[in-house]
Amino acid sequence: MLPSPKLSLTSEELIALEHQWGVKNYVPLPVVLKRGEGVWVWDVAGKKYLDMMSAYSAISFGHCHPRILATLIDQAHMISLCSRAYYNDILPRFLEKLCTITGMQRAIPMNTGTEAVETAIKAARRWGYMVKKIPDNQAEIIVCSENFHGRTIGIISFSSEPNYKKGFGPFLPGFKSVPFGDAKALEAAITPNTCAVLTEPIQGEAGIIVPPKGWLKSIEQICRKNNVLLLVDEVQSGLGRTGEILACDHENVKPDGVILGKALGGGYIPVSALVGSDELMGVFTPGSHGSTFGGNPLAAAIGLKSLELLEEERLCERSAKMGQYLMSQLQQINSPIVKDIRGLGLWIGVEINTEKVSARNLCEQLLKLGILSKETHESVLRFAPPLIISQEELDWVLQRIRQVLSAS
Ligand SMILES: *Cc1c(COP(=O)(O)O)cnc(C)c1O
Repeated sequence: MLPSPKLSLTSEELIALEHQWGVKNYVPLPVVLKRGEGVWVWDVAGKKYLDMMSAYSAISFGHCHPRILATLIDQAHMISLCSRAYYNDILPRFLEKLCTITGMQRAIPMNTGTEAVETAIKAARRWGYMVKKIPDNQAEIIVCSENFHGRTIGIISFSSEPNYKKGFGPFLPGFKSVPFGDAKALEAAITPNTCAVLTEPIQGEAGIIVPPKGWLKSIEQICRKNNVLLLVDEVQSGLGRTGEILACDHENVKPDGVILGKALGGGYIPVSALVGSDELMGVFTPGSHGSTFGGNPLAAAIGLKSLELLEEERLCERSAKMGQYLMSQLQQINSPIVKDIRGLGLWIGVEINTEKVSARNLCEQLLKLGILSKETHESVLRFAPPLIISQEELDWVLQRIRQVLSAS
């Protein structure tokens, strides 16, 4: 068989092709990836890179994990999709695992993180009317400024990022925004119509912003005191990224609802879920919510295998240990352009003084040295490698980060 001519295009040709036919809603770094294995990826010319970005934490298990791949292939041979019009033999086991690993009572499967956030908002509003008895259409949800919860009209309605909102109005009412990390402001924003607080435990897209110690615990207490639900978006922070199953676990916080996604798909397909208390999840009645693909056998099998691997490969411990190592090594780099280094587990943001060099420029320099990273908001370098990364691999990365930061 003759090879298809399309298979031999160069990086430049492929980038030009994408620019011609695609929509310009991203500005990718100039690398065209073709293959991935563990923490490594290769471009079309065969050059190797260490992935310190992990597809925004969706590749926590590394690229093409052999056991998730085997699960995917096995399940694809059995049955992949049958809709929730019928039961399937994998979904109940996935739901059980989701609940036991997070200490929750019920779970509802979705596909993308955004959909699971929307699901949480719907659940909270319904709980507000059915259980808290808020007057019809008056329910309010408190969110934090600089949040990132997704891209639907509903979710961008309560974003504070002009770039996410411009030209997309009119927006959805019913949200109040308070500064992230400010428990007093949050308490002051509560009214009798408040049904829920929705927050990330650490703000990822805002630039890996870690709130003051004890903040999440204090909002949990404020929520309890005021009969308000606590919904935590752990789409990026969850499943070992911070060194615990949930970032909430660091402060022993028990939310009413937890939103999971990204790594739950094992690096293969979108799998998300809202897990929560019986009381919250009980508001969904037949027909009130759903998804054609949510909970399909292929997604459920991959989600279940991902959660099992998280435990079997002790990835939380590894994230905590390697994260501490990476953090301590980064802190020892003496560079005038580094303003701040923050994070938890294998999730670290390095804030750059952008007067001399942009974070984007640093990412491009790192790319040339074989490291995939990504800037966040012009001034933050994001490091979030697969949780399977070894100390030797981190040393390999650190050597190059030192080189770039000290040369700038
Ligand atoms: C990525 C992300 C989402 C959205 O997930 P998608 O799968 O892109 O829809 C929601 N919340 C947080 C905190 C995220 O990081």
